[in-house]
Amino acid sequence: NAAAVVATNVVDRAPTAPPNKMERVYLGLGSNLAEPLQQLRDALVSIERLPGSQLTGVSSFYISDPLGPPDQPRYVNAVAALDTRLTPLELLDALQAIELEQGRVRKDQRWGPRTRDLDILLFGQRRLAEERLTVPHYHMHARAFVLYPLAEIAGELQLPDGRYLRELLADCPFEDLERLPAQQVTP
Ligand code: ATP
Ligand code: MG
Ligand code: MG
Repeated sequence: NAAAVVATNVVDRAPTAPPNKMERVYLGLGSNLAEPLQQLRDALVSIERLPGSQLTGVSSFYISDPLGPPDQPRYVNAVAALDTRLTPLELLDALQAIELEQGRVRKDQRWGPRTRDLDILLFGQRRLAEERLTVPHYHMHARAFVLYPLAEIAGELQLPDGRYLRELLADCPFEDLERLPAQQVTP
């Protein structure tokens, strides 16, 4: 259980030291296999249970065309806001565990079909360029299926480079996105 593993690490790290400060993180969620809507709902339940964290917002779900090989189902995407005391790498580990939690379908190719893709879009105002983690997500500024759901839950957002989300949206057409009605999306 991913949450339990992370919880143990958190406790091991600093039994007496003050906890990390809470930071606002935005996550991009995607799935195009094995009942994508349910994959996202289940992933959100797991995210909600992460230690030292609170899920504070979830966008509508959107249908989008795949980025990579065209011979794969369309995606369901959403964005979530999480307040967390986890470090960026602790969060990445936890998200990767949630990606693999259940219904795993092996992802052989980049941008190929997968049951769950959980990306860290933004981590507070941090800029990270680590081997396993680039934040802000390197391509979020150009992806309609990231920007439009993000705008639903964080319309006034400013990125670490100073650009406003609304400026990015102006350069990113809604394209073939399809927003699903709210009643279908409650996690
Ligand atoms: P894309 O990154 O273009 O959306 P993807 O999400 O399909 O592609 P994955 O296979 O999910 O790519 O992840 C590949 C690697 O990307 C992960 O193992 C992870 O270490 C790394 N990575 C770098 N930056 C991030 C980030 N901001 N969020 C999640 N993973 C990241
Ligand atoms: Mg991705
Ligand atoms: Mg990913």
